Amino acid sequence: MTYALNWDLDSLFPGGINSAQLKTKLTQTQSAIASLGDLLDRWDAASDAPAYQQFEKLITQLQQIDAALGQMGIFITAVGSADVANPDVAPMEAELRNLGTQAENVSGKLKKVLVQVPDANFAAMLATPALQPIAFNLTEMRNDGKELLDDKTEALISRLNLDGKAAWSSHYDSLVATVNVPFHDANGKAVTLSAGQADNNLLGNADPQYRADLLPAWEQAWTDKEQLFADTLNHLAGFRLTEYAAHGTTDFLRDPLRANRMSAATLNTIWQVVDDNKQFLLDYLDRKAALLGKKHAGWQDVEAPLNLPGSAIHQFTYDEAASFIIKHYGEFSPKMAALAKHAFEHRWIEAEDRAGKAPGGWMESAPETNESRIFMTFTGSPNDVATLAHELGHAFHSSVISDLPQLRQDYAMNVAETASTFGELIVADANVKAAKTDAEKITLLNAKMDNPLAMFLNIRARYLFETRFYQLRQKKLVTPAELNELMLNAQKEAFGHDLSTYSPHLWASKLHFYIDEPAFYNFPYVFGYLFSLGIYAKAQQAGDFEDSYIALLRDTANMTTEELAQKHLGVDLTQPDFWLAGVKLIKRDVADFMRLTDPLVK
Ligand SMILES: [Zn+2]
Repeated sequence: MTYALNWDLDSLFPGGINSAQLKTKLTQTQSAIASLGDLLDRWDAASDAPAYQQFEKLITQLQQIDAALGQMGIFITAVGSADVANPDVAPMEAELRNLGTQAENVSGKLKKVLVQVPDANFAAMLATPALQPIAFNLTEMRNDGKELLDDKTEALISRLNLDGKAAWSSHYDSLVATVNVPFHDANGKAVTLSAGQADNNLLGNADPQYRADLLPAWEQAWTDKEQLFADTLNHLAGFRLTEYAAHGTTDFLRDPLRANRMSAATLNTIWQVVDDNKQFLLDYLDRKAALLGKKHAGWQDVEAPLNLPGSAIHQFTYDEAASFIIKHYGEFSPKMAALAKHAFEHRWIEAEDRAGKAPGGWMESAPETNESRIFMTFTGSPNDVATLAHELGHAFHSSVISDLPQLRQDYAMNVAETASTFGELIVADANVKAAKTDAEKITLLNAKMDNPLAMFLNIRARYLFETRFYQLRQKKLVTPAELNELMLNAQKEAFGHDLSTYSPHLWASKLHFYIDEPAFYNFPYVFGYLFSLGIYAKAQQAGDFEDSYIALLRDTANMTTEELAQKHLGVDLTQPDFWLAGVKLIKRDVADFMRLTDPLVK
């Protein structure tokens, strides 16, 4: 055994969740926030001109607070993920959330004092050597500041939010915990599954009959509680729309697009490319259905594994996975390989397969120590190796920007998935190449198709549903029957009416519709995936790829997404060409899949 399966958290805060250092940090941060608030109240734009030295101190303090919150946040999340039953985590989370709200208020104040600076002076301010590196971020903050209401009202909204939007979001978790799915499996045996277990089986159970039997039971379980979920969704969305209206907009996509620093034109182009280029994925689904002995695939078959004879795939030990990732990262970028090696060696990763861990995987950075931590459960499948490569891609992104000012590290969700998807693509392709038999290759290509199927079809459906739901919600409360109809139509449209079954209650079962921040938790994924594919396509041609890739990552919180692509890739994101280069790579995979499976269906 070379690499440890457990991470080191003591180097962040020694002594676990009740760490004395953590408590000290919480207290210090609390007073830093209070003192920044006072200084902002007293700051006078006119007397600080033209050098703005006082302002420089204020913005530095804000960034230090952000870094401290990040450092504590990753630690508390990490302890909770590795030990879900730890009773001391929730109170710490609540304390940190409370601090976060206070910091947000102070940040709002800072945005508003920037509005006091006249335009001509603001340009001079941004040109000072200390502020020039964060000029883009300060401009963004000033623009936000123009829409903020007075301090008292903003503070009231954020306090109400704790029992409003944020409360509905956590109420959703409580509701989901009460959902049970009773059904009879193919042998007539009665089983009851939790929502999480049922979801895993619905999409991932190897037996097509089991999945088909489970779908109606799954829909029924959500039907039984649909009014409760409809209330939750309506009120969460209603709160959000009221908040938007108070800040001067009825366009519910304005803030989500702004948060991702991208234009509506870019988003529309992406959807156009997706809609115009999905036929090959529908053909793929028809082929998959044929391999499962069906005419059309059902909703429950889209992401299902294919169990072909002789397709037992290679299982990795953790050390094998580590050297596989380091080796294949190295073919694209020695610096990516070095970072991955560093992460394994310095115990940044919690990978052990044991009870008591949270599901899923994540990467977070520790801004004060320029490190990252990765959480996942490694069982040895090629899929786990790809997940590990995904999270290490995130860690690479963090590592190349860790020397920049904190504001310059604040990249948006759409570009956040760029480096991760890139890392995952490298390893998923290497897995397919390493397959020893055709059956193994088919299995791996099928697993690799989960991403494009999700992006082009499933998330497309979710986006169509969500925009139409918000349009309707602006006029009225939306009934469960209407929600089901909106979702069913969105799925049929996105999947080209090609499936034999659908999941009309996805609006209730999908957590993403209930996340309070950020809104529209769907299109940034599609952007990130296709953006990464486009870069991957370029990487396979260009020789000097590594440096230009790092330069792009370093600018991810320094300009709009369109400017980023123009500067570092020389492409116009509002035109289809760049996106189509990425689509071509998926088409190649599907063509391979079709060729390899031809003999099996004829
Ligand atoms: Zn990710």
